[in-house]
Amino acid sequence: MAEERDGDSAYLRIDCVSKRFDETQAVDDVSLDIRKREIFALLGSSGCGKTTLLRMLAGLETPGAGRIVLDGQDLGAVPVHLRPTNMMFQSYALFPHMTVEANVAFGLRQERPRWSRADVSARVAEMLDLVQMQRYARRKPHELSGGQQQRVALARSLAKQPKLLLLDEPLAALDKKIRQQTQLELVSLIERVGVTCILVTHDQEEAMTMATRIGVMSEGRLLQVGTPDEIYERPNCRFTAEFVGDTNLFRGRVTESGLVCDDFPEPLALAPGEGSVGETAWVSVRPERVVLSRGQPDGRAGWNRAQGEVADIAYLGSHSVYHLRLPGGRIVLASAPSLQWGEASAPTWGDSLWLAWPAAAGVVLLR
Ligand code: ATP
Repeated sequence: MAEERDGDSAYLRIDCVSKRFDETQAVDDVSLDIRKREIFALLGSSGCGKTTLLRMLAGLETPGAGRIVLDGQDLGAVPVHLRPTNMMFQSYALFPHMTVEANVAFGLRQERPRWSRADVSARVAEMLDLVQMQRYARRKPHELSGGQQQRVALARSLAKQPKLLLLDEPLAALDKKIRQQTQLELVSLIERVGVTCILVTHDQEEAMTMATRIGVMSEGRLLQVGTPDEIYERPNCRFTAEFVGDTNLFRGRVTESGLVCDDFPEPLALAPGEGSVGETAWVSVRPERVVLSRGQPDGRAGWNRAQGEVADIAYLGSHSVYHLRLPGGRIVLASAPSLQWGEASAPTWGDSLWLAWPAAAGVVLLR
């Protein structure tokens, strides 16, 4: 059966969906195909429209335009309580007066036709087992840690075996250390259940750790969709390049000899075929692509190089990020492994260093 395959076919199709609230175009003509069993992250800063898109999938908002089709069913006319979707909220929204097991059973008890008591108990036990919370079945939410509450909320979301699990900032309520540990646990749990999942986050590390693919949103628009490494290594616009990770962006005009910028001493060498003469373009170079040396590097063809002074250093243990000031004042970030300097002492503030990167390390952006 086609729907059982995890291939390239769309399990969820979001087709030209828009939503406006008075003056705000919260979601602007978004089209997106999600595969079965995929963990997809919608990533963007606050107010970019990611929660509104999630709420439309859940049926909590009605699209102003467009269609949402899940497993062949147009969800347009399906009310929220009949949708084969489940949304786990940032705050978990557990019922404070109910025990853990009553919280997980709650949705099952609303089902029509009714479930038998034995069936409800069996499913609750199965779900608590899945999230390893059997021991806490009789506790109330306030008697649990944040991470435990999150697991109960997840068990409750999965109890009705939704076709689509929607997670709104699922780890936002946890502190940083627990959050990082929980990211991978959550992924392995979702994969074990085999549910298709869309999560919303403004945290790029979370998106990159958890998702098979990421959709970057800004001002209601979906700017780029790709695997974490595609998004990071081949951003398609300045917003993605700057939002996901750190980067050095150079703006200039494409000429026969490269990109002429105001803030770099020579025209930047571009990879063959990149940019058309006369157009304005930006080049994005990730800090780890910039090679640092104390001595002047050989003038190899296709490499960009310049000399700068160390204006700042962020020591991060395994590596340091050097802020190098070029003669014109431009700051370039370069990340160097701590072991790079060997027995010699690492560069310090005020030192003069050379930086260089090959043309192929720069991504040319036209918007
Ligand atoms: P956050 O991460 O802060 O939740 P978000 O990316 O999820 O942000 P949305 O909550 O989808 O963003 O909001 C997108 C835009 O739509 C914002 O400008 C917001 O103010 C607006 N908006 C959202 N819901 C409503 C509403 N019910 N009425 C009016 N404006 C709304």
